[in-house]
Amino acid sequence: MTLTAVSKQQPWEAVEGVVAAGHRVFGENRVQEAVGRWSARREGLELRLIGPLQTNKVREAVALFDVIETLDRERLAERLAEEMQRQGRPLSCYVQVNTGEEPQKAGVAPQAADAFVEACRSRYGLSVEGLMCIPPESEPPAPHFALLARIAARNGLAGLSMGMSGDFEIAIRHGATAVRVGSALFGARIHA
Ligand SMILES: *Cc1c(COP(=O)(O)O)cnc(C)c1O
Repeated sequence: MTLTAVSKQQPWEAVEGVVAAGHRVFGENRVQEAVGRWSARREGLELRLIGPLQTNKVREAVALFDVIETLDRERLAERLAEEMQRQGRPLSCYVQVNTGEEPQKAGVAPQAADAFVEACRSRYGLSVEGLMCIPPESEPPAPHFALLARIAARNGLAGLSMGMSGDFEIAIRHGATAVRVGSALFGARIHA
């Protein structure tokens, strides 16, 4: 079980104690913010991108992060594959699934997930290690976690990044291998 400490929008004073205590896995949702915070401190850490990735930020994202959790479209898969090759950094990827099929949310639709995972692997040669989801805020999360676990199982994927401050216990019960916890660890975020 991996605890991804979500340091986005946290003042460095809140994050520094967690680094000093020996925690090594951090999640960020914006490339620019993550570069500013981590590029000079990245040694020995694992950085995970958990927010949407625009193709014009792929170069910087591949240079900084170790895991991309928000792979959700072919154009992005293609750019990531090119850039990983160019930089010699074959990062682990998670496919984000929009389990609630919310129009405003990123991620592939559940019924498109199998074909997309297959394309990422065979057409683009990416190492897809798992799936990630963010359940709709207005619904109980358990059915979404269960759905993500089923899609992962039938695609032979071991990684399940699911569960945040409010629902990580439920996610763990449904087989999460990584939980992404921000405010429960660091306190409320500063809203920019
Ligand atoms: C912000 C964020 C989290 C952490 O949220 P908390 O509720 O503060 O734990 C987890 N996952 C993603 C994708 C996020 O953007």
